Formats: sequence, structure tokens, C-alpha cells
Amino acid sequence: MPTTVKAYAATSATEPLTPFEVERRDVGPKDVAIDIKFAGICHSDIHTARSEWGPANYPVVVGHEIAGIVTEVGSEVTRYAVGDRVGVGCMVDSCGECKNCTAGSEQFCLQGNVGTYNSVGKDGRPTHGGYSQAIVVTEGFVCRIPDGIELDVAAPLLCAGITTYSPLRHWGAGPGKKVAVVGMGGLGHMAVKLAAAMGAEVTVLSQSLKKEEDGLRLGATHYYATSDPATFEQLKGSFDLIVNTVSAQLDFDAYLSLLDVNGAFVNVGLPEDPVSLRMFSVVMGNRSFAGSNIGGIRETQEMLDFCAEHGIGSEVEVIAADKVNEAYERVLASDVRYRFVIDTATL
Ligand code: NAP
Ligand code: ZN
Repeated sequence: MPTTVKAYAATSATEPLTPFEVERRDVGPKDVAIDIKFAGICHSDIHTARSEWGPANYPVVVGHEIAGIVTEVGSEVTRYAVGDRVGVGCMVDSCGECKNCTAGSEQFCLQGNVGTYNSVGKDGRPTHGGYSQAIVVTEGFVCRIPDGIELDVAAPLLCAGITTYSPLRHWGAGPGKKVAVVGMGGLGHMAVKLAAAMGAEVTVLSQSLKKEEDGLRLGATHYYATSDPATFEQLKGSFDLIVNTVSAQLDFDAYLSLLDVNGAFVNVGLPEDPVSLRMFSVVMGNRSFAGSNIGGIRETQEMLDFCAEHGIGSEVEVIAADKVNEAYERVLASDVRYRFVIDTATL
């Protein structure tokens, strides 16, 4: 029998999220049933709930930073057992056969991966995410949360963690590399912690100096306000890698001027509208203007293990489910330190 569980859903682009009930499928042979303990609030949840990236399929239960405990496993599941601590991120399925899936890059599945929410599952039904009490996910899209990382601080690693870990690894963040992180919110604060743990010299480029003390505590060596034009003069040609987590329009030419020769400006933030830049800003200096989309399941597990080894979790503010709309407003006002996480026991 499918199980009905409590959730919080967006019912239109303009109304607040409200209590809702969602049906979870029967546990199939390859499925893992998870009692969700915590669900992080990613800015992508807000973009989706408000149809900022295109019309959402309402009602939709968002949330793709899921941490919980296994309550049931299907007969063919080999990697998980009841009681295991597990996480689920932005994807819950993919074709598993195309060149990208077999290479471990399920996020680039040629058939299109199945998103944790606002997507359609292989059973033809809409998917619903983490702002709920439980979820059923095929084993291949479940990650193990190592002992030593509490579930509340682990939840945001499933999106904010992997989304910043992946480009930092890809572009070689490490000893001798100067890495700047633009925006110190949910993704940004993880980028600071991870890049510092990888051995890079980390600079935060934030709108103001309000969070400087935190930035330095989380592992940055330098912290600058982008509202001060002197910042751009002072840091010209400085960085090997800039990770941009901002979802608003920026003066990309100004930020590109901060890269060293052969440096890369990697976007993980996703503004609603097209952006523009002068090609001169890229060509002069052999620079890269790049993007990065979450990470594959194998790499997500690698990131979780890396976090356990380095004692890294997210900085979180745990909230009750009925505070989610307030939390959205605070995220939009850059007033988050540094990830809201819903305690699903309050649903
Ligand atoms: P967030 O917590 O809201 O953080 C964004 C930060 O950007 C803010 O804390 C703020 O930092 C800065 N910022 C906000 N408005 C700004 C403005 N107008 N100008 C300059 N800086 C501004 O959001 P998040 O959850 O980290 O997500 C960030 C973006 O990444 C979103 O667009 C999200 O959808 C996207 N995302 C992408 C992926 C992917 O796979 N690529 C995965 C997850 C999320 P300061 O206060 O320090 O300036
Ligand atoms: Zn996310």
C-alpha cells in the first residue's frame, strides 16, 4: 500500500507554502524507504516554488537536501539496511545506461535525470521532495551519511555541498591555488569550507563586510566587500578560480578582471534572465567562463566522505515547518546563516 505522509507544498507561484499530504510509492525490489529527519532549504527551492525558472507543476513539495534513516529496503537492495543514516540530493533516478550515467554523471543523463521534485518519476507520477516525512528512492540515488556528521548539518551537503565540491575538484582547488567565492550564502559558505579543507587560499567576495568574521572562521584568509569599487582595483588579476554562487545579475566583466591568466570563473548560481559580458574579458587572459551542475552520485558520496574526514558540516539554523515562508524571505534578503534546515518532526 502506498503510504501517505505529511508535507509542505507550494500550490502556486504567489501563495505561501502550506501543509499538504503526499503519497509515497510501495517499496520496490531496488527501493529504499527513508524516514526524513531534516530537509535543507536551497535557493533553488524558492526559484521552483515561485516558477522563476519556468512554470512549476503545482502542487509541488520542494526540498532536495534530505537526511534521514532507512526504514525499509526492497528485496534486491544490497548497499543499505534498516537503520542506516542516508541522504538524497537533487536527483532520484536516471536511465542508468547512457554514456553520462555510466560515467557517473547522472546529472547529465541523456534521457534527462528524474529530479527529486517538480519532475516525473519512472512510474509516470510527479516527484515530491524533502519537505515531507518520508521518501522512497531507488538504491542507486541514495548516499551514505558517514558517522560523525550529524543529520541536520549533513542535509545541506546533499546540494550545497556537492554543488561547490564538484567545481572545486574539477578546476583543481588545492595548495598553491587562489580561490574566490562570490556570495556567502548556502552554497557560498560550503565553498569556503571545502576550498579551505582542500588547501586553497580562500577569499570571500561578499556584498558587504557584515559576515567577515564568519568567513574567516569558516576558513577564508581574506574577505572583501564588492560594494567597494576599490576591491576590484586591488584584486585585479589575482585568482586562479572564482566560484560564483549568486543568483542575481553581476557585472561579469568586473569579476572576470579579477582572474589571473588561465583562470576560471565558474557559475553555480542560476539567475532567471540571460546575462551579458564582453568577450574581451574572457579572451584577454585565456580565461574560462564556465558553469557547473551539482555532481554525480559517486562524487556526492566522495564529498560526504571528504566532509567526514575533515569535520565539515553546514552551518545551519534549524526551523519548524511552519516557519518555512519566513525563512524564504530571509534567504531572499541574504539574511541566512547559512542554511535553513526544516526539522521534519514538526510537520
Ligand atoms: P543563497 O543562500 O541565497 O546565497 C546566495 C548569496 O548570494 C547570498 O547569500 C548573498 O551573499 C549573495 N547575493 C544575493 N543577492 C545578491 C545580489 N543582488 N548581488 C550580489 N550578491 C548577491 O542561495 P544558495 O542556496 O546558495 O543558491 C545560490 C544559487 O545557486 C541559486 O541561484 C541556486 O538556485 C543555485 N544553485 C545551483 C546549483 C547548481 O547545480 N548549479 C545547485 C544549487 C543551487 P552575500 O550576502 O555574501 O553577498
Ligand atoms: Zn539545491
